[in-house]
Amino acid sequence: MENNNKLEKTEIVKLESVAALRKTMDDYFMRLKDAAENGTAKIAWCTSVGPAELLYSMGFEVYFPENHGAMLGTTKIADKYIPSAVVKGYSPDICSYLTTDIGAFLQNETPLQKMGFKSVPKPDILVYNTNQCREVADWFGFYAKHFDVPIIGVTTPLNIGELSPAIIDSVSKQIMDLVPELEKVATQKFDMDKFRERVGLSHDGCALWRKVLETARHKPSPINFFDSAIHMGPIVVMRGTQYAVDYYTILLAELQERVKNNTGSVPKEKFRIYWDGMPLWYKLSSMAKLFAKLDACIVASTYCNSWIFDDLDPAEPFISSALAYSKLFIVRSDEVKEDVLENLLKDFSIDGIIYHESKTCARNSNNRYGLQNRLFEKTSVPFLEINGDLNDPRCFSEEQSIIAIETFIDQLAGQKALV
Ligand code: SF4
Repeated sequence: MENNNKLEKTEIVKLESVAALRKTMDDYFMRLKDAAENGTAKIAWCTSVGPAELLYSMGFEVYFPENHGAMLGTTKIADKYIPSAVVKGYSPDICSYLTTDIGAFLQNETPLQKMGFKSVPKPDILVYNTNQCREVADWFGFYAKHFDVPIIGVTTPLNIGELSPAIIDSVSKQIMDLVPELEKVATQKFDMDKFRERVGLSHDGCALWRKVLETARHKPSPINFFDSAIHMGPIVVMRGTQYAVDYYTILLAELQERVKNNTGSVPKEKFRIYWDGMPLWYKLSSMAKLFAKLDACIVASTYCNSWIFDDLDPAEPFISSALAYSKLFIVRSDEVKEDVLENLLKDFSIDGIIYHESKTCARNSNNRYGLQNRLFEKTSVPFLEINGDLNDPRCFSEEQSIIAIETFIDQLAGQKALV
């Protein structure tokens, strides 16, 4: 059993599952490398909330540029790459995953080179879903042109309030329409049983991921946002595989043990925070230490919750894929988002909310149209807004944000003292 009392306040209680995570991710990249270098499988590029199950069911190895964008963000040198994309006409104000990724590609650099890749794995086809944003289609369009390979996708309506049968039918039909295009490239024909199997595995992986995140309802929380942002790797890139199911079984067991032993992720948890918006990938570790020092644990987040697709159902693989991928938080109206957040605040016993307004990701910045004020009127849960960006460190003023966060936690402490 871990002993929190022995830890310095700035230390996060480390998860032992990190070793299994590293192996799961390394193996994933080795399968991709094998496909790229030895032609063991065709390679599809997919958006992070795209139809991964369909691609895996047809024998593709699947590569996710957004995962690569986040890897580039953690290298803390996105600002070295972004100017190369700007020269190609991509504004520095649009998605910095896109500009970092394309810029690094133009400079022929990738963190994958440390794993022996020559470059990012060349796609045989690119597949997107605009449920998260239109940027992904433009981003993939750059590579489709560069590699002269097909690009196909699903266009999902935005700001969805009621998930009507018309929306589900339209998205479901669009996913079905991908099949003949994929068959032109794949080594395997579409097989409904294989697709059902992948949808079932994706459901099981997502259900485990939900349970992982829900362990944070416990006080103290056994996991925090900074852990989750790292441990979400398999649910992003291996959704629809046994690998993700196996990994989250291991992680969940460790977290359940922590719950049993009352081991918190933050040594002395006093404040429970909700994080809305993207992570600051280049500041994960220093932010984790800051919050630990303040006895504050970020117990839930919009970002990590976004990969819970447990509406997937092998009995209705196309319809349930359409439902799961259109029910996603990012694609919903503010009214729906407010309801979702209101429930999360109660379920996770949240003391305060931090909204990260990410300069280059409008769709993941939920404080631009008054949601933060409306939610405060309903719940009285205090909030703080900080300005930054997912990848571009030039948009983030660290000193100013640290002062704001420290002051916010002080205010929460004052409020708690009054109760
Ligand atoms: S959702 Fe935001 S971060 Fe993700 S690809 Fe779209 S613009 Fe970029």
